[in-house]
Amino acid sequence: MTDSTILVWVETTAEGAPAPTAAGLLGAAAAVGAPVALVVTAPGTGDAAAQAAAALGAARVLVAETDAVSSQLTVPVVDALAAAVAQAQPDAVLVANSIEGRDAAGRLAARLRLAVAADAVGVSRDDEGIVAQHSVYGGAYNTVSAATFGPLVVTVRQGAVDARAEAVAAPTIERLEAAASGSAAASVDGFEPAVAATTRPDLRGAAKVVSGGRGLGSAEGFALAEQLADALGAAVGASRAAVDAGYIPYAAQVGQTGVSVSPQLYVALGISGAIQHRAGMQTAKAIVAVNKDADAPIFDIADFGVVGDVFTVVPQLIAALEARKA
Ligand SMILES: Cc1cc2nc3c(=O)[nH]c(=O)nc-3n(C[C@H](O)[C@H](O)[C@H](O)COP(=O)(O)OP(=O)(O)OC[C@H]3O[C@@H](n4cnc5c(N)ncnc54)[C@H](O)[C@@H]3O)c2cc1C
Repeated sequence: MTDSTILVWVETTAEGAPAPTAAGLLGAAAAVGAPVALVVTAPGTGDAAAQAAAALGAARVLVAETDAVSSQLTVPVVDALAAAVAQAQPDAVLVANSIEGRDAAGRLAARLRLAVAADAVGVSRDDEGIVAQHSVYGGAYNTVSAATFGPLVVTVRQGAVDARAEAVAAPTIERLEAAASGSAAASVDGFEPAVAATTRPDLRGAAKVVSGGRGLGSAEGFALAEQLADALGAAVGASRAAVDAGYIPYAAQVGQTGVSVSPQLYVALGISGAIQHRAGMQTAKAIVAVNKDADAPIFDIADFGVVGDVFTVVPQLIAALEARKA
């Protein structure tokens, strides 16, 4: 293993804890170098965030504390990332492929004239440096990308990396002075936590996803997918046909024009497996499909397939899962 540095921006939640993406990012970094975490927090909260990042495998944590993080979008993070790149001289910068991560990655790369590898499903190292792996054209091809100069900025798809780094008990914590760039930034006028309408996991980054398609027939029928999701502790996704038919809001759409997921388990109920749907779920570690058409394309990529009616198969599946819990 090389000692080269991999800088990881550890996003934090509103409560100041590392976002769920942090463990995978630090695990990916540890597999190709020495992970250095950057946390950008409100004054007074950096040490707790740094310790939490260390518990996920960061031996060295750069802490940038600034009031601006609560009043401006992205720019304070990019200012800190630019300062961290100068200080740590990393071989690569890893951020989550979240909305904030993509925004920060693009701005950082434009500011420092670096290359971006977007939506990577893994990172590796060859003789010349860090290589990002991608799953493209609906998962039909795997490609790699690398930078010919400077550290590669990589946005890593949530849930795509299983690797976990070992916890570090006594991290090196360094204060990072990041001068405000004054770049144009959207300002935050108010902050109101959204009331969670569900206790289900967030679709992005969920370890298990149950998705329903047009085969569920109606919004009432779609409840079956939600019941199976609850029995498994899974997030709920959907095909575009299900979303267009109004079974569930657009936010649940998985695919080319929806969310990309890489869960451990993806269950597709009444989904044909069109290329645009596969684009968003084909990197799942295990795919289970229930469809009454034995020739449905979803079976081409399923690890386990059941040819049958969802309204017959799924209630039995839920009953079996509930029986195991009892
Ligand atoms: C530019 C573009 C972007 C797109 N982006 C996306 C995207 O992001 N995500 C996406 O999902 N789609 C996307 N689509 C649409 C995509 O092409 C398909 O139309 C869509 O995925 C089909 O959804 P579906 O599988 O639910 O419906 P269908 O293709 O109608 O399939 C329904 C399936 O349910 C099965 N079925 C029916 N009844 C039952 C039953 N009782 N029990 C078991 N099985 C049953 C049928 O055999 C069938 O296989 C996009 C299309 C375009 C052109």
